[in-house]
Amino acid sequence: MPLSETLTPRSPGSALETPSHVTWHQIFKEAIRDCHQLCQELDLPARLAEETSSSTEDFPLFVPRPYLRRIRRGDPRDPLLLQVWPRREEQAPFPGGSADPVGDGAASLRPGLIHKYPGRALIVATGTCAVHCRYCFRRQFPYGSVPRTLEQWRPALNDIAADTSLREIILSGGDPLTLRDGLLAGLGEELASIPHVQMLRVHTRVPIMIPQRVTSELLDWLGGSRLRTVMVLHANHARELDDEVGSALARLSRAGVMLLNQAVLLREINDSVSALRDLSLRLVDLGVVPYYLHQLDRIHGAAHFEVDIGRGRQLVEELRARLPGYAVPRYVQEIPGQSSKTLLL
Ligand SMILES: *Cc1c(COP(=O)(O)O)cnc(C)c1O
Ligand code: SF4
Repeated sequence: MPLSETLTPRSPGSALETPSHVTWHQIFKEAIRDCHQLCQELDLPARLAEETSSSTEDFPLFVPRPYLRRIRRGDPRDPLLLQVWPRREEQAPFPGGSADPVGDGAASLRPGLIHKYPGRALIVATGTCAVHCRYCFRRQFPYGSVPRTLEQWRPALNDIAADTSLREIILSGGDPLTLRDGLLAGLGEELASIPHVQMLRVHTRVPIMIPQRVTSELLDWLGGSRLRTVMVLHANHARELDDEVGSALARLSRAGVMLLNQAVLLREINDSVSALRDLSLRLVDLGVVPYYLHQLDRIHGAAHFEVDIGRGRQLVEELRARLPGYAVPRYVQEIPGQSSKTLLL
């Protein structure tokens, strides 16, 4: 649908669900970028907006409306709000922290292509995301150097074609699903034409943030590829997964996409047995396997989200005692220089 046909103005908060004719582009454009506006829409005291971090200058607030609607009004401790709210604590340095805690710089073959682990390489497809997560480990990534067109991707594609050990290519970011389907389908076709590549994996938060992004064009190129397609979602809390998200995930499953989830263990957000159990059970109900639970990467500005590893191990052990094995995520940490994520339990 051309964008011009869909520019119907909508008064904020007037509808509980996004009308079906509104495109994901438009929802993206209408994301909340202003702390005062967020406070107003969520019935939060205006003084909260005065107490935000100055780090919003280089990493602004960015909250799309489908996610906003899942945040509990009037609750400054809401676990969904805490993921996106720029608290003043972001200004505190992270002891032992870094701007590149996972060693992406050292593993970059060329701008936008990271090869750390045997058999799989990761393409940083874009710096744009559909939400700004305050704990993000790539918030200081040098996105300016990432290619923007298929032609600019040519050298990275040539590297992948030349390395027959690469079975799997991961599209990551930023969030690859903020790119147009035309560009993604083109990239997918190029990768499918490389005989040794078998798997295409997409790491994304978009189907959760803007479920309307799961368009028939997206399903066509993902489901129609020669490559086996895997999508790794990124939900940290069960309440992120409402029925709108559920139906987007069902469409992906029906198109043959394998669905996994990775979460980050986050203080006050999901650091309890009940929060982790509810997340796993909701994921499984929606056909998504809880794949990883990540220990937080020590990026500056995120110290207030850290849960210590001892506590993390205890939580995952308690999960294992309550849930079937497939519903217990692997608790892992990314340590630079290792040939895989490091299992913590
Ligand atoms: C996490 C990661 C992967 C994927 O690791 P899996 O254990 O296969 O999920 C691949 N490449 C890079 C650079 C990564 O950070
Ligand atoms: S969607 Fe992913 S890359 Fe983007 S801000 Fe959130 S955690 Fe970071």
